[in-house]
Amino acid sequence: MAVCSLYSVGVSLLEVEEEIENVLKNKFRLLPRFEGVVSPYSRTSRTSQLLAELQLQNLLSVKPHDSLFVAAVTPYDLYSNGLNFVFGVAYPFKGCIVSYARLFSDDADLFFSRVRKEITHEMGHVFGLQHCPDPKCVMCFSNSLADTDYKSENFCPSCEEKLLLSMKKFGLF
Ligand SMILES: [Zn+2]
Ligand SMILES: [Zn+2]
Repeated sequence: MAVCSLYSVGVSLLEVEEEIENVLKNKFRLLPRFEGVVSPYSRTSRTSQLLAELQLQNLLSVKPHDSLFVAAVTPYDLYSNGLNFVFGVAYPFKGCIVSYARLFSDDADLFFSRVRKEITHEMGHVFGLQHCPDPKCVMCFSNSLADTDYKSENFCPSCEEKLLLSMKKFGLF
């Protein structure tokens, strides 16, 4: 089984980490291995927001050689060059980082469902998938929580087929 290194940038909720581990196992047939909590990389003092790409690059540079990908989670809000905020960012065939800072709800089931959608979406990119025009497909781009809540946790048949092909290339089944 291929290992996926799991990191937490800052201390994340245990339940969120478990939710992510389950998605990595059940949807992508990866073996999640928690590598530890890392401090946010060169966090600027003017904002509590982290530049997503910088965090991801930092983790990819420390990833153990025996693991296939990096998956990271953070309670900090993320932004990207040119975007005020992002739910997550991925580098195809390398790794991803997701933030749950904007996913909170009084409804715990809704919160965890959002977490599952975001990690599934970003891991889809890790397996080489692009955004999908089907608004119910988990690979549909989310601009807001409303978009995230509208889409399902699943891949549409076309994305599912691409995912399985990619997983096959990595020998995951
Ligand atoms: Zn995306
Ligand atoms: Zn799709």
